[in-house]
Amino acid sequence: MFLSSDGYRESLRALRPRVFVDGERIDSVADAPVLAPGVNAVGLTYDFALDERYRPLMIADQHTSGTEVNRMLHINRTPQDLINKLEAVRLLCREGGCVQRYLNHDGFNALFQVTHLMDAENGTDIHARFLAYLHEVQEKDLTLGIAMTDGKGDRSLRPHQQSNADSYVHIKERRKDGIVIRGAKAIVTGAPYMHEFLVMPCRNMTEADADFAVCCAVPVDAEGITIVARPAGRPGNPAAKFSGQYGQSTGVVIFDDVFVPWDRVFLAGEWQYSHLLTRIYATHHRHSCIGARAGFGDLLIGAGVLMTEANGLSTETVPHLRDRMVELIKIVEGFYATGVAASVYGFQDPSGNFQPDGVFANVGKLLLATQIYDMQRLAHEVSGGLIVTLPGPDEDHNPETAGDLAAMLETRPDVPHEKRMAVARMMEDLTASDEAGWYSVISLHGGGSPEAMKREIYRYYPIEDRVELVKKLIDRGAAAVEGKSVSRDRQLARCCPVGCQVPETPQLNFDPDASPVALANPMKPAAE
Ligand SMILES: Cc1cc2nc3c(=O)[nH]c(=O)nc-3n(C[C@H](O)[C@H](O)[C@H](O)COP(=O)(O)OP(=O)(O)OC[C@H]3O[C@@H](n4cnc5c(N)ncnc54)[C@H](O)[C@@H]3O)c2cc1C
Repeated sequence: MFLSSDGYRESLRALRPRVFVDGERIDSVADAPVLAPGVNAVGLTYDFALDERYRPLMIADQHTSGTEVNRMLHINRTPQDLINKLEAVRLLCREGGCVQRYLNHDGFNALFQVTHLMDAENGTDIHARFLAYLHEVQEKDLTLGIAMTDGKGDRSLRPHQQSNADSYVHIKERRKDGIVIRGAKAIVTGAPYMHEFLVMPCRNMTEADADFAVCCAVPVDAEGITIVARPAGRPGNPAAKFSGQYGQSTGVVIFDDVFVPWDRVFLAGEWQYSHLLTRIYATHHRHSCIGARAGFGDLLIGAGVLMTEANGLSTETVPHLRDRMVELIKIVEGFYATGVAASVYGFQDPSGNFQPDGVFANVGKLLLATQIYDMQRLAHEVSGGLIVTLPGPDEDHNPETAGDLAAMLETRPDVPHEKRMAVARMMEDLTASDEAGWYSVISLHGGGSPEAMKREIYRYYPIEDRVELVKKLIDRGAAAVEGKSVSRDRQLARCCPVGCQVPETPQLNFDPDASPVALANPMKPAAE
C-alpha cells in the first residue's frame, strides 16, 4: 500500500503522541501550524512515490517479500539500488530541504545486516523478527524516527559511568513478554510527526554497558513517551517562503519506563553488536546525507544565479560571478560524486545487503560537513548584503513606503522589484536565517561529527596496501641503483605492471545472489 501525503496526514491523526512545542501541548500534530513544514516535507516522500515520473527512483522491489515498497523503506541489494536511493534523496531534498525519511532507510539497512550476523554467530532468530517488522512498516508505508543520539551526559564517561543513567536510553527491566526502557534520546528529526521510533544505540558499548545496548521499535504514542520539540522550519513567517513551507522539527524524546514487547526488540544487551550497528548505520546514513545536501546545493546554485540576475548582472558575462558559481558547483558535485563512487564500489555482505563503500561515504560526508560553510559564503558573495538587510514583508504593502522602496531599489526595468525581494528573501532563508543555521549544523554534525568520519576513513582505508606499494617501489628503485633488491624475499619484476595484481573494477551488472563479503565484527574475539 502506498499512502499519499494526505493519507500520511490522516494516519497521523489516528495517533495520540504527547508532544510539546515551545511550551504548548500539541493536540493534533497533523494540524498544528508549527509543525506543518515538517509534515509537508515528509509528505513529499509519499507523493513523489505516487508520481509516475519518479517511479523508478521512488519505488523498489523488496526481495524478501516480493512487494513494491517506498525507496525510503527499501533494503539495498545492488549498486543500482544505492545510486537510485542517492538520486531519490537528492530529488526529495532539492524540493523539501530535509525530508527526514531517508534516516528510516538507513536504520533498516543496518538492522537487516546486523540481525543477520547475530543469527549467524549465535543461532538466534532475530533476523526473522526484524523482517516481520520491516514488512509491516513497508506494507503500512509508515515513517519512523531514528532515535539514536542519546542525551549522553558527560561525554568523557561511558554510559554505565554516568551519574544519571537516564542520559542514555537503557533497559530498566526485562520481563517475560518484553523489556522496559528508560532515558532520553536528545535529537530526533521529525519526532512529533513520526509513526514510530526506531531506538538504536549511538555508540559502541562494553560489557559493563550491556543494558544500554538496546535497539527496538516503539509507537510514538506508546505510554511513557513524551516529545519536547522545536517548530518545524519557520512557520508563519511571511519572509520565509521556503522554510515556511518545508523544514524539520527536532525533538527530545523522553522514554519514561516504556514497555516494548519482544517482537519489537532487536538488541537487548548484546553489547558486542552495538559497535557494528552504529558503524553500519553511519555508513548508510552518511551516504544518504550526501544526496540530501546535494539537493540543498541545487537550491543554492539556482538561488545564486537568480540573485545575480536580480542585481542586474549575469554569471554569463561577469567572470568573477561565474567563477563563484563554478566553485559552488564544484563543491556540490564533488561531494555528490563520492556518493556515486560509494554506491559503485560498495560490497554485498552475507545478508545480501549492498553496503556503500566506507571510505567514499565518509569522505563525502566529511566534505559536505565542512564545505557547507563555503557553500553559504559563495552564495553570500554573489548576492550582496541586501539578503539580510531588506525591510520585511510588512513593508511590501505599506502605502507610505512601498512605492518608494519599489521605485528606488529597482535594479533594471525588466526585473520587477518584488521579484528581486522574493529571491533575496529566499537566499536569506536558505543561507542566513536561523533555518540556514539549522542546515549548517545538520550538515556538520548530522550522522556524526567530522571526527567520527575521520576515524572511519582511517579505519576503512587500505593503508597497508599503500605501504606495500611504496615498499615495492623502494625495493625496485634500490635494485636499479645497486643491482639487487633491498629485501631478499622479493622477486624483481613482481611489482611491474604485468606482475602486479590487476585491481578489481566494480561490477555494474551486479548479481545479488553471488559473492558476499563477510562483515568483520571487531567486537567478536578472533578465537571464536
Ligand atoms: C539538525 C540535526 C538533526 C539530527 N537528527 C538526528 C536524528 O534524527 N536522530 C538521531 O539519532 N540523531 C540526530 N542528530 C544527532 C547527530 O547524529 C549528532 O549531533 C552527532 O552524532 C554529534 O553528537 P552530539 O550532537 O551529541 O555532539 P557531541 O557528541 O557532544 O560532539 C561535540 C564535539 O565533542 C567531540 N566529542 C564528543 N564526545 C567526545 C569524547 N568522548 N572525546 C573527545 N571528543 C568528543 C565531538 O567530536 C565533537 O567535536 C541530528 C543532529 C542535528 C544537528
